[in-house]
Amino acid sequence: MNAELIAVGSELLLGQIANTNAQFLSQQLAELGINVYFHTVVGDNVQRLEQAVKIAQTRADLIIFTGGLGPTKDDVTKETIARLLQRELVLDEEALRSIEAYYARTKRTMTENNKKQALVLNGSVVLKNEYGMAPGMALTVDGMTYMLLPGPPKEMKPMFIRYGRPFLLGKLHQHERIESRVLRFFGIGESQLETEIEDLIENQSNPTIAPLAGDGEVTLRLTAKHASVTEAKKLLDETERAIAGRVGQYLYGYNEDTLFMKVMEQLQKQGKTIAAAESLTGGRFTAELTAIPGASQTVKGGVVCYTNEVKERVLSIPSALLETDGAVSEQCAKLLAEHVRTLCQADIGISFTGVAGPDPLEGKRAGTVYIGVALAGQETEVHALTLAGDRETIRTRTIKYGCFAVLKQLAAAL
Ligand code: ATP
Ligand code: MG
Repeated sequence: MNAELIAVGSELLLGQIANTNAQFLSQQLAELGINVYFHTVVGDNVQRLEQAVKIAQTRADLIIFTGGLGPTKDDVTKETIARLLQRELVLDEEALRSIEAYYARTKRTMTENNKKQALVLNGSVVLKNEYGMAPGMALTVDGMTYMLLPGPPKEMKPMFIRYGRPFLLGKLHQHERIESRVLRFFGIGESQLETEIEDLIENQSNPTIAPLAGDGEVTLRLTAKHASVTEAKKLLDETERAIAGRVGQYLYGYNEDTLFMKVMEQLQKQGKTIAAAESLTGGRFTAELTAIPGASQTVKGGVVCYTNEVKERVLSIPSALLETDGAVSEQCAKLLAEHVRTLCQADIGISFTGVAGPDPLEGKRAGTVYIGVALAGQETEVHALTLAGDRETIRTRTIKYGCFAVLKQLAAAL
């Protein structure tokens, strides 16, 4: 099944807004195993919309429209499609009632053109709008499926997920269930990961394996189809095992997991506390951890030791060390982690010291970073990194790497 997305709206062509609906729907359709071959954008203009629909009919069997379902004159999507398909527009009683209820609730007077929103294509499945007034609709004519969705993302997204997606599932895979799972990796680059599992990717068919990289992380989306959900999950398990056999040491989580959530989870599981000494990261590691509910039991606190003065005065780094090795050094990272741990009476001390850039510091290039991890009763580990990217990227990767290092060490301590 091949889809084309047609976004209707002159504001898109004028560059006033970006076509985020297309991005969302493309992601959704990819998950359903539906190919999207074209994104089209057209203004609120009947002739040009007609042209766009006619072209799409020659190269897709699913056309999804967003926008132009509202009550105003420039909203022409369903009228245009009704004319092209020679379908009448009929009043949908349920939609009219919900529009009337909306006006009653907000104590506003309903104008005649608002009734227009309750008109739907004759014979279509009406998709309820739970966050606005104009209902969506879907219908299949001569093997071609049309789906009309409202423009505002806050109406379109829930409508698609609750009603549009099940409609397509029923249409496309009457006997197939689709299960997908995202595997999240850190500490391995996209090309290295792909090389390690090249043969698996090449021989994929069910499940499919789709890599994606961003923000220093790599993900693999596995999608399996089978008549039974249990069997589909088994297929995912098998592929995951094969992948983990090659690159399991970099696999940290699934789906919407974040490295910070995993650190929090492990700390809670092991009943351990953490404290951080943050130089180049300026408190961001601690901020990310404390954003997670339940942090009060695991995060003791920390020190933003941005200057050497604070490293020396608050965290007792010997001035001699700062003069010989410098603040950006293995030895400094080690002592910062150990000292913040004892200062905050935590089980784990972690430190971040390095050059965020763009300028070098102490003669060291931007991206030179040391992370120390000190656990009671264990040798302190220091990770020396050479990161690429701008200041923001270096800082983000540094705190993510910190999570990864803590997770490794916590796993080893078990
Ligand atoms: P309404 O009833 O609000 O008029 P509608 O279905 O008629 O909804 P439009 O009038 O085309 O939709 O667009 C309404 C608003 O929705 C736009 O001003 C814009 O903010 C948002 N929108 C429309 N299309 C898109 C799109 N493709 N991507 C992101 N946002 C969009
Ligand atoms: Mg509108």
